[in-house]
Amino acid sequence: MARYETVIGLEVHAQLKTNTKIFCNCSTQFGVAANENVCPVCSGMPGVLPVLNKKVVEYAVKMGLSINCQINLCSVFARKNYFYPDLPKGYQISQFELPICEHGHVDIVVNGEKKRIGVTRIHMEEDAGKNIHRDNASYVDLNRAGVPLIEIVSEPDMRSAEEAVAYLKELRAILLYLGICDGNMEEGSFRCDANISIRPVGQEELGTRTELKNINSFRNVQKAINYEVERQIDLIEDGEKVIQQTRLFDTAKGQTFAMRSKEEAHDYRYYPDPDLRPVQVRQEDVDTWKKGLPELPDSRCKRFQSQYGLDEKDAVLLISEKEIADYFEEAVKTADAKKLANWIAGDLFAYLKQQNCSISECKLSPQNLSELVELIEKGTISNKIAQDIFATLCSEGVSPAKYVADKGLVQLSDTDELEGIVASVLAENPAEVEAYRAGKTKLISFFVGQIMRKTKGKGNPSVINELLEKQLQ
Ligand code: ADP
Ligand code: MG
Ligand code: ZN
Repeated sequence: MARYETVIGLEVHAQLKTNTKIFCNCSTQFGVAANENVCPVCSGMPGVLPVLNKKVVEYAVKMGLSINCQINLCSVFARKNYFYPDLPKGYQISQFELPICEHGHVDIVVNGEKKRIGVTRIHMEEDAGKNIHRDNASYVDLNRAGVPLIEIVSEPDMRSAEEAVAYLKELRAILLYLGICDGNMEEGSFRCDANISIRPVGQEELGTRTELKNINSFRNVQKAINYEVERQIDLIEDGEKVIQQTRLFDTAKGQTFAMRSKEEAHDYRYYPDPDLRPVQVRQEDVDTWKKGLPELPDSRCKRFQSQYGLDEKDAVLLISEKEIADYFEEAVKTADAKKLANWIAGDLFAYLKQQNCSISECKLSPQNLSELVELIEKGTISNKIAQDIFATLCSEGVSPAKYVADKGLVQLSDTDELEGIVASVLAENPAEVEAYRAGKTKLISFFVGQIMRKTKGKGNPSVINELLEKQLQ
């Protein structure tokens, strides 16, 4: 493998969170009955005219500004012609020669190293409908036809599956911070095609690429790319050639399969759509949108490090989802940042994963997490108890302070009370006390054990240790 270099370029489709479709007033709502959200425009009736949704332009420009693109104040919609049952017009309205944004870049960090990935272009387009094959028949649902997308095309700048995933995560985070896409990969709101080739190390010219279609999770992106790279290396090593083709990743088998080769590849016969005027964006609108951009993941990550003293790893983890970052910022008002980060990255993430839910569905409020951290800090409960009750706090949404008081989980830290117990344990074990004083210091754990038994496990270990040392001296 060391003799070859992997080259990856990604085409990402992000569904925009508008209320209505890109060229008509139909709703974009997901999950309604088939063909509920359909009108003459999005079902491709003859004689209708598309009217561009202004929000789509605003969102595309905001994304472009966020990833350092040049904004083209004039861009052109084009028809991309192909035949498929889910495409009633026989063409998709997209952009080709003059897209709305070009020449951007995204910075990623992989294994502590920063790298810049070029973005070739962003264009606006409509989604197609959906074919459903069932009961020995095929059905077409056009609810998704005309739903707005932006396609973000990268330069072939990535050199490993890890870089590809880091790039995708960064794009998704930015879209979510901007609030212009819900980022749901399973429902296809954020999906990617991966173009992959290999070349001998040192060779400048790019190898022949294959394109993997519509991969719908970060894990599958990683798996599909790694499989495809090995397949291509095997081919070359066997003296064969990589054929330029479109391939599908079979999740169950963990392999890629040829879908169509270049010979069957489409000639889309792109040409400017005569129904739509060139898109003119005013510079003053671009300026307004630029001023209104929220804090983006990259700067929030830097701020988390400088303002809260977090290390880069924790900061990267916390800012990956806007909801998580917001949660942290709420909780950190009243608790230690590093300790909070540990609880969020550890027990909270584990809980969300196990329950397969998002942080907004979890009932542990940021205030309650902060209260829990404080309870440990003050010695009211042990770390162990906090971990034991964590899942309950998440599912029931009760106040940690009230919960531990009600359940009698409060740690015994009262010095006077513990002092008496320590004294009584020492009085009950004179032989061990003598042995300890003669140098058998290991006996300290024996005493701690005896005291813990008397406090039913609730004695505060650090207070006990302190008192013991004092009384044994
Ligand atoms: P198409 O629209 O036919 O897929 P594009 O020129 O738009 O072709 O390229 C699509 C993607 O393929 C881009 O992200 C680009 O960076 C990537 N790409 C192009 N050539 C290669 C290659 N040899 N190896 C890997 N990726 C490539
Ligand atoms: Mg492509
Ligand atoms: Zn419609």
